[in-house]
Amino acid sequence: MPEISPGLVEFKSLWTHQNNYNRPGILFLLVWSLFLLRCSGCGKCCEKTEMEVSSRDIKRLEEAGYRREDFTVIDDGVIRLRNVDGRCYFYSSSEKNCRVYAKRPLGCHLYPVVYLVDEGVIVDGLCPMGHTISDQELKTKERTLVKLLKKIDKERAAAKLNC
Ligand code: SF4
Ligand code: SF4
Repeated sequence: MPEISPGLVEFKSLWTHQNNYNRPGILFLLVWSLFLLRCSGCGKCCEKTEMEVSSRDIKRLEEAGYRREDFTVIDDGVIRLRNVDGRCYFYSSSEKNCRVYAKRPLGCHLYPVVYLVDEGVIVDGLCPMGHTISDQELKTKERTLVKLLKKIDKERAAAKLNC
Protein backbone atom coordinates (compact mmCIF):
# COMPACT_ATOMS: atom_id res chain seq x y z
CA MET A 1 0.00 0.00 0.00
CA PRO A 2 1.24 3.53 -0.61
CA GLU A 3 1.73 5.85 2.32
CA ILE A 4 -1.59 7.49 1.53
CA SER A 5 -4.33 6.59 -0.83
CA PRO A 6 -5.16 9.80 -2.71
CA GLY A 7 -8.64 9.94 -4.10
CA LEU A 8 -7.54 10.32 -7.70
CA VAL A 9 -5.30 7.28 -7.48
CA GLU A 10 -8.17 5.33 -5.98
CA PHE A 11 -10.46 6.54 -8.73
CA LYS A 12 -8.13 5.25 -11.43
CA SER A 13 -7.51 2.09 -9.50
CA LEU A 14 -11.16 1.22 -8.99
CA TRP A 15 -12.01 2.07 -12.56
CA THR A 16 -9.49 -0.38 -13.94
CA HIS A 17 -11.54 -3.19 -12.41
CA GLN A 18 -14.32 -2.56 -14.93
CA ASN A 19 -16.42 -5.00 -12.98
CA ASN A 20 -20.12 -5.62 -12.87
CA TYR A 21 -20.41 -6.52 -9.21
CA ASN A 22 -21.97 -3.30 -8.06
CA ARG A 23 -21.48 -0.44 -10.46
CA PRO A 24 -23.65 2.09 -8.52
CA GLY A 25 -21.75 1.21 -5.37
CA ILE A 26 -18.40 1.52 -7.08
CA LEU A 27 -19.37 4.92 -8.51
CA PHE A 28 -20.38 6.04 -5.02
CA LEU A 29 -17.01 4.95 -3.68
CA LEU A 30 -15.20 6.75 -6.49
CA VAL A 31 -16.84 10.05 -5.66
CA TRP A 32 -16.49 9.47 -1.93
CA SER A 33 -12.82 8.61 -2.22
CA LEU A 34 -12.05 11.95 -3.85
CA PHE A 35 -12.63 13.67 -0.55
CA LEU A 36 -11.29 11.34 2.12
CA LEU A 37 -8.09 9.53 2.85
CA ARG A 38 -8.54 6.36 4.81
CA CYS A 39 -5.33 4.39 4.41
CA SER A 40 -2.24 5.19 6.45
CA GLY A 41 -0.10 2.90 4.29
CA CYS A 42 1.00 0.80 7.27
CA GLY A 43 1.01 -2.34 5.09
CA LYS A 44 -0.47 -4.57 7.80
CA CYS A 45 -3.11 -5.90 5.43
CA CYS A 46 -0.37 -7.18 3.11
CA GLU A 47 1.28 -9.31 5.83
CA LYS A 48 0.48 -13.01 5.76
CA THR A 49 -2.35 -12.30 3.38
CA GLU A 50 -5.12 -14.81 2.91
CA MET A 51 -6.82 -12.75 0.21
CA GLU A 52 -8.98 -14.82 -2.11
CA VAL A 53 -8.84 -13.93 -5.77
CA SER A 54 -11.38 -14.34 -8.55
CA SER A 55 -10.72 -15.36 -12.14
CA ARG A 56 -11.13 -11.71 -13.08
CA ASP A 57 -8.46 -10.63 -10.60
CA ILE A 58 -6.12 -13.30 -11.97
CA LYS A 59 -6.77 -12.34 -15.58
CA ARG A 60 -6.11 -8.66 -14.90
CA LEU A 61 -2.83 -9.43 -13.13
CA GLU A 62 -1.78 -11.85 -15.86
CA GLU A 63 -2.45 -9.16 -18.43
CA ALA A 64 -0.14 -6.93 -16.42
CA GLY A 65 2.62 -9.48 -17.00
CA TYR A 66 2.51 -11.59 -13.84
CA ARG A 67 2.26 -15.39 -13.84
CA ARG A 68 -0.53 -16.91 -11.81
CA GLU A 69 1.71 -19.71 -10.55
CA ASP A 70 3.96 -17.02 -9.07
CA PHE A 71 1.37 -14.89 -7.31
CA THR A 72 -1.25 -17.45 -6.26
CA VAL A 73 -1.47 -20.51 -4.05
CA ILE A 74 -4.29 -23.03 -3.90
CA ASP A 75 -5.33 -23.58 -0.32
CA ASP A 76 -7.92 -26.35 0.11
CA GLY A 77 -9.44 -25.49 -3.26
CA VAL A 78 -9.35 -21.74 -2.62
CA ILE A 79 -7.10 -19.56 -4.79
CA ARG A 80 -5.34 -16.98 -2.66
CA LEU A 81 -2.52 -14.48 -3.05
CA ARG A 82 0.87 -16.02 -2.35
CA ASN A 83 3.04 -14.78 0.51
CA VAL A 84 6.78 -14.38 0.14
CA ASP A 85 8.77 -13.86 3.34
CA GLY A 86 5.57 -13.21 5.25
CA ARG A 87 4.10 -10.63 2.88
CA CYS A 88 1.98 -10.69 -0.22
CA TYR A 89 3.88 -11.50 -3.41
CA PHE A 90 3.02 -8.03 -4.70
CA TYR A 91 4.20 -6.09 -1.67
CA SER A 92 7.42 -4.17 -2.22
CA SER A 93 9.39 -4.15 1.02
CA SER A 94 11.82 -1.57 -0.34
CA GLU A 95 9.11 0.83 -1.52
CA LYS A 96 6.71 -0.18 1.26
CA ASN A 97 3.78 -0.31 -1.09
CA CYS A 98 1.75 -2.53 -3.39
CA ARG A 99 3.39 -3.06 -6.79
CA VAL A 100 0.01 -3.59 -8.44
CA TYR A 101 -2.00 -1.02 -6.55
CA ALA A 102 -4.10 0.02 -9.56
CA LYS A 103 -4.70 -3.60 -10.50
CA ARG A 104 -4.91 -5.21 -7.10
CA PRO A 105 -7.63 -7.77 -6.37
CA LEU A 106 -11.10 -6.48 -5.67
CA GLY A 107 -10.87 -7.92 -2.16
CA CYS A 108 -7.92 -5.59 -1.51
CA HIS A 109 -10.04 -2.64 -2.66
CA LEU A 110 -12.78 -3.64 -0.26
CA TYR A 111 -10.43 -4.08 2.69
CA PRO A 112 -10.75 -3.44 5.65
CA VAL A 113 -14.26 -4.75 5.05
CA VAL A 114 -13.89 -8.52 5.27
CA TYR A 115 -16.00 -11.63 5.72
CA LEU A 116 -15.38 -13.95 8.67
CA VAL A 117 -17.21 -17.27 8.88
CA ASP A 118 -18.25 -16.75 12.49
CA GLU A 119 -18.97 -13.02 12.30
CA GLY A 120 -20.12 -12.28 8.76
CA VAL A 121 -19.09 -9.00 7.12
CA ILE A 122 -17.12 -6.79 9.49
CA VAL A 123 -14.43 -4.11 9.54
CA ASP A 124 -11.16 -5.91 10.23
CA GLY A 125 -9.79 -4.84 13.59
CA LEU A 126 -6.25 -5.26 12.23
CA CYS A 127 -6.55 -2.09 10.18
CA PRO A 128 -5.66 0.99 12.23
CA MET A 129 -7.83 3.12 9.96
CA GLY A 130 -10.88 0.89 10.19
CA HIS A 131 -12.69 3.48 12.30
CA THR A 132 -12.85 5.80 9.27
CA ILE A 133 -15.19 3.44 7.44
CA SER A 134 -18.65 5.01 7.50
CA ASP A 135 -21.84 2.98 7.85
CA GLN A 136 -22.68 3.81 4.25
CA GLU A 137 -19.29 2.65 2.98
CA LEU A 138 -19.58 -0.53 5.02
CA LYS A 139 -22.98 -1.29 3.47
CA THR A 140 -21.74 -0.53 -0.03
CA LYS A 141 -18.63 -2.62 0.35
CA GLU A 142 -20.61 -5.42 2.01
CA ARG A 143 -22.85 -5.75 -1.05
CA THR A 144 -19.87 -5.91 -3.37
CA LEU A 145 -18.00 -8.32 -1.10
CA VAL A 146 -20.94 -10.73 -0.89
CA LYS A 147 -21.20 -10.77 -4.70
CA LEU A 148 -17.47 -11.29 -5.04
CA LEU A 149 -17.45 -14.21 -2.59
CA LYS A 150 -20.40 -15.85 -4.35
CA LYS A 151 -18.54 -15.54 -7.64
CA ILE A 152 -15.42 -17.07 -6.13
CA ASP A 153 -17.50 -19.91 -4.64
CA LYS A 154 -19.06 -20.62 -8.02
CA GLU A 155 -15.67 -20.66 -9.68
CA ARG A 156 -14.36 -23.04 -7.04
CA ALA A 157 -17.33 -25.37 -7.51
CA ALA A 158 -16.88 -25.32 -11.29
CA ALA A 159 -13.18 -26.07 -10.93
CA LYS A 160 -14.01 -29.10 -8.73
CA LEU A 161 -16.43 -30.41 -11.36
CA ASN A 162 -13.74 -30.13 -14.01
CA CYS A 163 -11.22 -32.13 -11.96
S1 SF4 B 1 -4.08 -2.09 7.25
FE1 SF4 B 1 -5.53 -0.39 6.77
S2 SF4 B 1 -4.30 1.47 7.02
FE2 SF4 B 1 -2.84 -0.23 6.90
S3 SF4 B 1 -2.28 -0.34 4.70
FE3 SF4 B 1 -4.02 -1.76 5.03
S4 SF4 B 1 -5.87 -0.54 4.56
FE4 SF4 B 1 -4.17 0.91 4.87
S1 SF4 C 1 -2.23 -7.18 -3.84
FE1 SF4 C 1 -1.34 -5.35 -3.01
S2 SF4 C 1 -2.87 -4.54 -1.57
FE2 SF4 C 1 -3.41 -6.69 -1.98
S3 SF4 C 1 -2.40 -7.84 -0.32
FE3 SF4 C 1 -1.01 -7.79 -2.07
S4 SF4 C 1 0.37 -6.06 -1.73
FE4 SF4 C 1 -1.43 -5.82 -0.39
